[in-house]
Amino acid sequence: MAKKYFLYLVRWQLSTPILSLVLWWLSGMNVLLATIIANLIGGLIFFWVDRYIFRTISDEPLWEIKEDAECVDCGHIGSGYRIVEWFSYNRKEDKNPQYRCEKCRIKKMVEVREKMTEKPQK
Ligand SMILES: [Zn+2]
Repeated sequence: MAKKYFLYLVRWQLSTPILSLVLWWLSGMNVLLATIIANLIGGLIFFWVDRYIFRTISDEPLWEIKEDAECVDCGHIGSGYRIVEWFSYNRKEDKNPQYRCEKCRIKKMVEVREKMTEKPQK
């Protein structure tokens, strides 16, 4: 959490040069109007930057949950879970999604985490 907080503060500072540059450029203009324009420019840029940051630094995988799914590991029928996206692990376009029960999904999560920290995925 502390690392995320720090990154967030750094990210806020990134907008400083842009805002000051735009405000300097529009210095002859009404202060309110200049600030609105500066924030608009900042928003256009940082929408993409933030989207990238929050996707990249997320510690939690993105799960898909399906009811009445059969666990691919133990065959249990019930709520099935699968990791859709987690760092470089991406199964968004998976043609044969595999679901796992509450118990088996934890095992799979550890497995995926180990795989990702061992070597970068191709
Ligand atoms: Zn299972």
